[in-house]
Amino acid sequence: MADIIKPISWSFSKLGDFTKCKLSFKIKHLDKVPEPERPLPAGKSEHANERGSRVHDAAEHFVDGTGTFAKEMADFQPEFDHLKHLYAAGKVSLEGEWGMDKDWESAPWNSAWLRLKLDAIVFASPLEAVVIDYKTGRKFGNEIKHAQQLQLYALVSFLRYPELETIHAELWYLDAKEITLQTYTRDQSLRFKRSFNQQGVDLTTATSWPANPNRYSCQWCPYGPDGTGHCTVGVRK
Ligand code: SF4
Repeated sequence: MADIIKPISWSFSKLGDFTKCKLSFKIKHLDKVPEPERPLPAGKSEHANERGSRVHDAAEHFVDGTGTFAKEMADFQPEFDHLKHLYAAGKVSLEGEWGMDKDWESAPWNSAWLRLKLDAIVFASPLEAVVIDYKTGRKFGNEIKHAQQLQLYALVSFLRYPELETIHAELWYLDAKEITLQTYTRDQSLRFKRSFNQQGVDLTTATSWPANPNRYSCQWCPYGPDGTGHCTVGVRK
């Protein structure tokens, strides 16, 4: 009998995939089946995920002084200028790759149980920090998912920096021209740990990956009957 391959690490985005459809999760993250080439959306010169990566890179390099300002960041010029100023003053950490082990202690990225990539964290004082995540694309329809992401970011920030008492978690919607802000105390944030821990354990100890055919998940899935065909029970597009 073939060995069952188990996922060894999780992240917020893997959790989203796992929640939507376990079969799709397995094909993508465990079997590592490449997604087929997709045609570009009408009138676009790049896919949304490629654009998102490009804009994130541009934001990082603008703030650390190694790159220029990208036009997609234009509505946030004052915020990025301020962030750059704080970075030069040594108060900002960028593009942090944070690993946590199963006991929620800091761990090396390569062997981490939970992995988190933070766009920026600003240390306003020894007791207070601002966690920032840049978002491209729309806010509408993603509110719950993004709120949960902020909860996880704040939780891990508190665990990694035990002296912090308050965290302001911000989402900068670069296209929607909006900032969503949520403030957490340490006590509030630590209450999320139990639920996230259970979700992480469920993901990393799963031994079966049933399909979850439904119109919402299947319409974006590349592995269904109209895609690679690795799943034969998906809802057709
Ligand atoms: S097509 Fe639907 S049911 Fe099949 S793997 Fe994808 S999301 Fe799951």
